[in-house]
Amino acid sequence: MNKNSKLHLIEGARCKSCGLCVAACPKETLGIGSELNQQGYAFVVQVAPEKCVKCNICRIVCPDVAIGVIEANQ
Ligand code: SF4
Ligand code: SF4
Repeated sequence: MNKNSKLHLIEGARCKSCGLCVAACPKETLGIGSELNQQGYAFVVQVAPEKCVKCNICRIVCPDVAIGVIEANQ
């Protein structure tokens, strides 16, 4: 990841693996990971953070408030 990449705060423990954020992201930067959280759900991870345009759609659609969007290079 370069210093201009956008970072997401994905709180894996809250994720229910619904996939809404993955489907909603216009840049296909999110994906369901292979690790399970304490609830037994495979939580979302960033697969291409450098493509993120920080539109906040993923944060808005997540019903479990598991995502935040921040700048990485501040
Ligand atoms: S902020 Fe926008 S571009 Fe970045 S991961 Fe979320 S939906 Fe995708
Ligand atoms: S919308 Fe929220 S709960 Fe659903 S997969 Fe994405 S981060 Fe997980």
